Amino acid sequence: MPFVVAIDGPSGTGKGTVTSALAKKLNLLYIDTGATYRCVTLKLIKENINLDDKENIEKALKNINIEFKKNKILLDGEDVSLEIRKNPVNDMVAKVAELPEVRHSLVDLQRKMSEGKNVILEGRDIGTNVFPNADVKFYLDASQEERIKRRLKQNKEKGIETSEEEVRKNIKFRDESEKTRELNPLRQAEDAIYVDTTDLTIKEVEDKLYKIIKKKKHDAKWIERGYIQTKNTVFKRIARKTIKVFLASLYHIVYRVKKTGLENLEQDDGFIICSNHLNYLDAAAIVLLNKKTIRFVAKSDLYRIPIISFLGHIFDVIPIKRGKNDLASIKMCLKALRNKEIIGIFPEGTRKGIEKNVKVKNGAVFLAEKANVKIVPVGIRGNFKPFTKVYINYGKPIDINKLKNDDPNWIDTASNKVMEEIIMLTKKQQ
Ligand code: C5P
Repeated sequence: MPFVVAIDGPSGTGKGTVTSALAKKLNLLYIDTGATYRCVTLKLIKENINLDDKENIEKALKNINIEFKKNKILLDGEDVSLEIRKNPVNDMVAKVAELPEVRHSLVDLQRKMSEGKNVILEGRDIGTNVFPNADVKFYLDASQEERIKRRLKQNKEKGIETSEEEVRKNIKFRDESEKTRELNPLRQAEDAIYVDTTDLTIKEVEDKLYKIIKKKKHDAKWIERGYIQTKNTVFKRIARKTIKVFLASLYHIVYRVKKTGLENLEQDDGFIICSNHLNYLDAAAIVLLNKKTIRFVAKSDLYRIPIISFLGHIFDVIPIKRGKNDLASIKMCLKALRNKEIIGIFPEGTRKGIEKNVKVKNGAVFLAEKANVKIVPVGIRGNFKPFTKVYINYGKPIDINKLKNDDPNWIDTASNKVMEEIIMLTKKQQ
């Protein structure tokens, strides 16, 4: 899977310099999305197209050809690297970037340029709009005064003549326009790392980001491996059996686990086990203390940790990226269910979700319906303190087809029903 780094922030935060250096160091394709807005602006100027002339703007967007070649930016085959950094482009670009037709077309272009590649993109809406699922997101910021100073210095180095007043006016105007525009305004994505660069040198910013990206890249490689199911070799079977026997004995010594309703696991087809989630020990308790092989779905982040990654592969744990539409994970689950395997899911999505009052996740019902399998609810009671009792109560299989109706929200309603069943089972007296 391609690795994507998103860098957003206002003008003059050093995004361009830092991003281009990081791209080289980390072997990522560098996409300067601001340059694409600048190219469109230059094209409109050259072709004398007014900003309210929607028809001709759309025509221009259809015919435009923007290419990034080494250190050059080509607009319709012509090197415009310097021209797009000067006036009148500078003065007009923020207005052009407000036009919905321009934004839609350029976001498409930016995604196409990135397709299938390991990329680093800088702009204003990368983490919030172009790549909301980026692997790493940064929001670079700096005080307005510092940014004005930097822009002046940069212009001087590039041989672009501008007065301080001009730069000040331009940055102020662009800040205002970018932050207040209706479509994809500049803002920090919730999961972006905020870096204030006011008192940092470019090198310091670069080093800070480099370390974070390098670690994420390393993690991403391990997480990626989690999605490759290893073959059921003799080694894997022996390892699984040995670990199971060893840890199951430990469980029996440390906790006095009592199980009820085991007959509910006797089914010919694959099915889904849905349990409440108290802590990390409960999934292991279900997996280890069962003769049957149960494959739990767990957050893909866990695969970052080599020992967990090893165990994940031995027990064929299915990774899932939280809060994202993880198609690869859904496919793995459906394949397993169609192969008559048993998968385990925590509908709370997090530990002690019931207590935290989280919205019940509907993934299990979604999968059950798609694969046409039943859900076995499980209620676990206990606090997993050593030498205390833990109860694992398996309930009667739930036929999701019976909960299905015309209500567009039936999946949520059915998921709540499954959760109610689980809660009842946690209270079941032995
Ligand atoms: O980054 P740069 O200053 O070259 O960007 C030029 C302009 O393009 C910005 O002022 C902003 O209005 C627009 N832009 C945008 N969204 C992006 C990148 C740039 O609206 N992702």
